[in-house]
Amino acid sequence: MKREKIRKEMIGRLNIHLASHYGMCFGVRDALAVTRNTYDENEVTVLGQLVHNPLVSQELIENGIKEGELKDPPTNTKGTVIITAHGASDSDRVRWSSPQRKVVDTTCPLVHKVHQSLAALTVSGFFPVVIGKKGHAEVNGLIGDFPQAIVIEKEEDILDVPYERKIGIISQTTQPTDRVNELVQRIRSLRNNSEVRFIDTVCSPTKNRQEAVKNLCEVCDLIVVVGGSNSNNTSQLVSTVERLGCRAVQVERSEDIILDWFTETKDVGVTAGTSTLNETVISVYERIKVISEELTVKDREYLGKERILS
Ligand code: SF4
Repeated sequence: MKREKIRKEMIGRLNIHLASHYGMCFGVRDALAVTRNTYDENEVTVLGQLVHNPLVSQELIENGIKEGELKDPPTNTKGTVIITAHGASDSDRVRWSSPQRKVVDTTCPLVHKVHQSLAALTVSGFFPVVIGKKGHAEVNGLIGDFPQAIVIEKEEDILDVPYERKIGIISQTTQPTDRVNELVQRIRSLRNNSEVRFIDTVCSPTKNRQEAVKNLCEVCDLIVVVGGSNSNNTSQLVSTVERLGCRAVQVERSEDIILDWFTETKDVGVTAGTSTLNETVISVYERIKVISEELTVKDREYLGKERILS
């Protein structure tokens, strides 16, 4: 992938680098816009967390939008239910639809593509394998219509892949490409008598953010990753940074930032997961600028004392 320019600002003591790709993707942004504009005099219920971001969840709850569970049996037949950008299985869609209830589907088009890929592999006789996080809404939606499918989250899960003649693999959209490729290679070598077909379904916003954070790691000694603690792609950004031997801290908002993190630091990178609001990234960036200036003042005070003592 082409190396893109990193925006860099030198403020006081720190060089602050902003990733070339960061933050909210189009799929989450569109789902949020639809949800904010949905009104129903009965009630509006989002099936699961619309985005894995506590600030957004809080905003929606304050606006009277309820958070339900995709698996819960529907009790209220009226009102509107919203399927999140993570998508849902066809069986869950059928369960939730009723003539009195409106279903608003905000599934990201790139998640739809993963469903189509998995269905195409299965129809062609491949045993379905999903690389992703067990229990994640997107993964549950993917395997919901394929009870035989297995999910590979860790290397040891590969032993669960059966000795089938044909094995078809897809990936959750927010998995790091390097990790997915490693797992696919491992499956190929352990099941070398099978025909293994892999469809790369990691989405392009995830790839861009992963690539951008790698570029940050080349020039930074600390990366601040902004995003919800339960956001899969945010934690994947943290893992990528750590795998590359760089220091990472994850924050949900600017108030989480601690000055001590920066005392031994010169170059700080800032990035954010695909469920993070732009205004949150800006406030984190601004807070780091303030910290940098505070560190400069502290340095001057320290040097002043040293001079007096010497
Ligand atoms: Fe769509 Fe990718 Fe964003 Fe998920 S992370 S909502 S698949 S663009």
